[in-house]
Amino acid sequence: MHKLVKVKPWLMPEVEHSIEDGEYLQTPAELDDYKQFSMCINCMLCYSACPVYGLDNEFIGPAAITLAQRYNLDSRDDGQPDRLRVIAQPEGIWDCTFVGECSRACPKGVDPAAAIQQAKIRAVNATMMSVLMPWSER
Ligand code: SF4
Repeated sequence: MHKLVKVKPWLMPEVEHSIEDGEYLQTPAELDDYKQFSMCINCMLCYSACPVYGLDNEFIGPAAITLAQRYNLDSRDDGQPDRLRVIAQPEGIWDCTFVGECSRACPKGVDPAAAIQQAKIRAVNATMMSVLMPWSER
């Protein structure tokens, strides 16, 4: 479970939102973007089911990547670059071969396999942006 903390599973807004600013509202559509991934109960069954993790327990694994996606997709968060630096490393998202057993094993219907594939697309987009628009990097 120490892997879960590595992905910085908390909101990291670029501009702090203080209590004096009032509620930080989201639309139902913004909530829908990440809600499924927030249903994880950290049971770790997805690690037990994952053949990649079975071969290499250094793989950061499905629940940690799903947790990263839960925050990356949150409209209140700007921490994706920090999380991508963790999950796009060796033993990260690229180790996943999309077997999909994690999603079959999940008792909460979280679909970690989808989270990992989404994270791969985000990592590729971020890399392309860093090449094409290096000044936009944080
Ligand atoms: S199996 Fe599902 S609920 Fe359990 S840790 Fe993995 S993603 Fe979370």
